[in-house]
Amino acid sequence: MDALSIEQLTKRYANGVEALKGIDLKVRPGDFFALLGPNGAGKTTTIGIVTSLVRKTGGRVSVFGHDIDTELELAKSCIGVVPQEINFNQFETAETILTNQAGFYGIPRRVARERTETYLKQLSLWDKRHAIARSLSGGMKRRLMIARALVHEPRLLILDEPTAGVDIEIRRTMWEFLRETNERGVTIILTTHYLEEAETLCRQVAIIDKGRIIENDLMSNVLMKLQAKTFVINVRSPLAQAPVLAGYACRLTDPHTMEIDVTKDRGLNDIFVRLAAQGIETVSMRNKVNRLEELFMRLVSHSPAQGASK
Ligand code: ADP
Repeated sequence: MDALSIEQLTKRYANGVEALKGIDLKVRPGDFFALLGPNGAGKTTTIGIVTSLVRKTGGRVSVFGHDIDTELELAKSCIGVVPQEINFNQFETAETILTNQAGFYGIPRRVARERTETYLKQLSLWDKRHAIARSLSGGMKRRLMIARALVHEPRLLILDEPTAGVDIEIRRTMWEFLRETNERGVTIILTTHYLEEAETLCRQVAIIDKGRIIENDLMSNVLMKLQAKTFVINVRSPLAQAPVLAGYACRLTDPHTMEIDVTKDRGLNDIFVRLAAQGIETVSMRNKVNRLEELFMRLVSHSPAQGASK
């Protein structure tokens, strides 16, 4: 049984925007799944439908076998959701927010208290349990959102842009926590347009653009589809423009740095020979880290034709 099954899902908003044009997705239990796409692609709409905040126009959605049309409460009880916006009552304490949330799911008071302690501790918020939520830092509020989503111990955790706007340290701590949560058996789906996040965390990825799924595969397979690699080269003397290197696409990102696309069939020696011939001294070279970002740009630029075949 799939953790999440989406078939031919469509959504047309009242203003006529077709946010989803018939998407199919399956997420297996235990998966760590990324729904990737640029702004306006349809990620939040998809999550909104799965979590019953948005009404679908057509198609079917089920969560651990529970169809949201016929077994909505059962489907909802399987899901913990961390929306983009902070939406708890800012005048309540962290402890109350969690205990009340457990109450919404019919969890007895005593168990709710135990769970509150467990999850506030896991998210390093226990010493803030009596603090009014409004007084917490941005990073703490994010963690409180996650603790709240977990307090009824859902089998599927859905996070919409979990690390948007948080600094790198908080982001890494959150990644670590999400990884551990997944290792404990919780299926995780996250939406992101932050591509390194998907690459770092997720085994499976679906890429959505303009309401259509344009790629859906193992992350490792998706990365392999990348034919060319981009190298970043630093040069000793500043350059006014990118050097012309026959056979290579070369861009200047700043006067000391250029990016060169190298297809699989070409070696690197040629690059250095040609640069040296132009009197350009290289200082260092590295692989451009975010290969997924490149892939994404390529897929999106071809999406109308590919999307239509899906
Ligand atoms: P993403 O989360 O990938 O940024 P969304 O699902 O928020 O994308 O949006 C998909 C499309 O639907 C966009 O064109 C957006 O403008 C439109 N949209 C989203 N919410 C609404 C709404 N409540 N009413 C009308 N159009 C909307």
